[in-house]
Amino acid sequence: MNINSAHTSSSTLSKKSIYSITPFTVLDYPDKTSCIIWFSGCNMRCVYCYNPEIVLGKGRLSFVDISGFLESRKHLLDAVVLSGGECLLHDSVLDIVKALKDMGFLVKIDTNGSRPLMLKSLIEKSLIDYVSLDFKATSYKFETITLSNFYPQFEESLKILNNSGVNFEVRTTVHSSLLGLQDIESMAETLYKLGYKGIYFLQHFCNDKASLGNPGESWFGNELNDMSKNNLEIIFR
Ligand code: SF4
Repeated sequence: MNINSAHTSSSTLSKKSIYSITPFTVLDYPDKTSCIIWFSGCNMRCVYCYNPEIVLGKGRLSFVDISGFLESRKHLLDAVVLSGGECLLHDSVLDIVKALKDMGFLVKIDTNGSRPLMLKSLIEKSLIDYVSLDFKATSYKFETITLSNFYPQFEESLKILNNSGVNFEVRTTVHSSLLGLQDIESMAETLYKLGYKGIYFLQHFCNDKASLGNPGESWFGNELNDMSKNNLEIIFR
């Protein structure tokens, strides 16, 4: 990779914004092989967050540091997933995604939805191929669960994606102490009203993982299996 090419800025690619890298997964990009770049830092503090060390930690690697690994995975991996933390917090992400596209990778963004302008900028430049958008909570529980007030930005991100033509999914991590069935039904209704046409994925909080706020055990079971309504398909995974 020529990191001094006209398309990218070598100074932003040298910033240590990356916490770590997962070299291979078949779980994170639908039907594709990928690696995951974990960006440090987040503007939320979700009670159930599994990645406290990434959220609270400092970046340890730059894109330049991992470029040799990525070069070696050209034509072996289909895609690179940008996750975190919140990858869209980093100004370097624009140049990083350009560099990944120059290398021939599909790019997936995992985002909490708090940076709609960055998301829009990447979409307008045709730089992303798939997005996973977190829907953290109803508007009335958003601050309690995320310790932040980015609900309006989440809705803005959803509207941008709805109008973009980019493949994307909306997902919610559910913990029984934080979201009840009525909350989840309300969130599904919100997605429907805002024009979301895709599948709404629910994923159960993993009781055996360390988390940021230690919310205790979650007990959801079969009641989440069949919640599809209003023509919105809901899948519990
Ligand atoms: S779960 Fe919340 S705190 Fe953790 S990385 Fe995602 S948005 Fe940030």
